[in-house]
Amino acid sequence: MCLLAGALLLGGRASAIWPFDRPSYPDPATDLPGAAAQILSQAIRIQTVNPPGDELPLAKYLAGVLRKQGIETRVVDTPSGDSKVGRAALWARVKGSGHGRPVILLSHLDVVPADPNEWAVAPFEGVVGGGYVIGRGALDAKGLTVVQLLALVQLARAPVPLDRDTILLATPDEETGGQDGAGYFVREHAALLSNAEYLLTEGGGILVGNPGTPPVWGISVVEKTPCWIRVVAHGTPGHSSAEPRDAAVPRLLDALSRIRELETEVRVVPEVASMFAALAPYAAPEDRSGLADLPSALHSDPAFRSRFLADRGQNALVRNTFSITVLQGALKTNVLPAEASAELDARLLPGERCEDFADEVRAAIEDPGVSVEPILSFNARSSPVDTPLFHAIEQVAAEIDPGAIVVPRVIAGFTDAHYFRDLGIVSYGFVPRWLPPQESRGIHGPNERISIQNLERGVRALVRILETLARPSAEPKP
Ligand SMILES: [Zn+2]
Repeated sequence: MCLLAGALLLGGRASAIWPFDRPSYPDPATDLPGAAAQILSQAIRIQTVNPPGDELPLAKYLAGVLRKQGIETRVVDTPSGDSKVGRAALWARVKGSGHGRPVILLSHLDVVPADPNEWAVAPFEGVVGGGYVIGRGALDAKGLTVVQLLALVQLARAPVPLDRDTILLATPDEETGGQDGAGYFVREHAALLSNAEYLLTEGGGILVGNPGTPPVWGISVVEKTPCWIRVVAHGTPGHSSAEPRDAAVPRLLDALSRIRELETEVRVVPEVASMFAALAPYAAPEDRSGLADLPSALHSDPAFRSRFLADRGQNALVRNTFSITVLQGALKTNVLPAEASAELDARLLPGERCEDFADEVRAAIEDPGVSVEPILSFNARSSPVDTPLFHAIEQVAAEIDPGAIVVPRVIAGFTDAHYFRDLGIVSYGFVPRWLPPQESRGIHGPNERISIQNLERGVRALVRILETLARPSAEPKP
């Protein structure tokens, strides 16, 4: 099994034949969990590891599922640097009455690689067993695509349309930054977004399984923003038998050690403060009062501060972080290069600018022979919390998951949501699925899986949220 998956990985294009040799899936109207499991299994078998992506066969397969249900669907070609690699986004729409502006359900079709040697099952076989679908993309994000797609199918069957159009959008290229996926789509096909008001995508979910804590519905309203920086040291080139004082590589190493000493400032943005305040009552007793007022506790309580910052995930939510990731010097042992370079992956808090962070780096280095230039950055815009969509999610949480708490979140990673926030669309990272921490670790890790029960509950919860948003007068279902 593992060898086969390895061969397929290396073979690349083998994916194109897969959509057509699988047994069909059950009718979602009569067997929703069965349909969800089979469609997801098939989606995992259609390989879309990015690079190169090759998402076109998957977009076509899912378009076929939607068209069979009579849903308006398009496969939209997107840029591909290689003529043998097909790249595409999937777009579909269920019309509403037009009283409200549309809602977009956003996911992505590409996945990160998987090393079969680290997995208990072949990662691209779409294994279904023990109540789970297991494989690369089960959580990130093919499982989400299938939940959103089946929610659209449910809405299409409803006898009365919602007040708003519901638009499904599954893009390529998210895992490498989305410039050729969501970024391309918003630039070239904005008309298909129909002046949407709201968007739901990955980035948040429902955390369960922490003893003493109720289910936490975490809705991501803002993300840290990437700020990638190239540091280049210049020096006298030549033969390395006699090193000059200003050689590029040692100069770069000096610069990098000064960068490593950079202590970024601790700053609590309002969204982070309110997230920890909401979680405070369930924290360890000694941390409760600190979390309830994080900005002042981090300032005035050194013991709390060191406990809080010792957690890498928490630390990343209250300061800019950076990692040195790429290094380049000479290509040969006996050559002094004219340039040596490094790249930093910095992640900035909302409201910070990459140019300002680059200035901080320059000031730390204090060497005019070393240049510091940003190579990639986005704006970090937040979405407001006091909106009908947020309240619809709160209402559905109370209906179907009594005792759960609903918390706005900031995430340290980033998703394609920023492309849509830039258009003024209120965008939340929220996937209705109930995951204990050990299952969340499957995202980008080995043995990624999702329970079939989660797929089914996810579809039903998402439909309830959309109905609550777009049919405000609707009575809660029993
Ligand atoms: Zn993802």
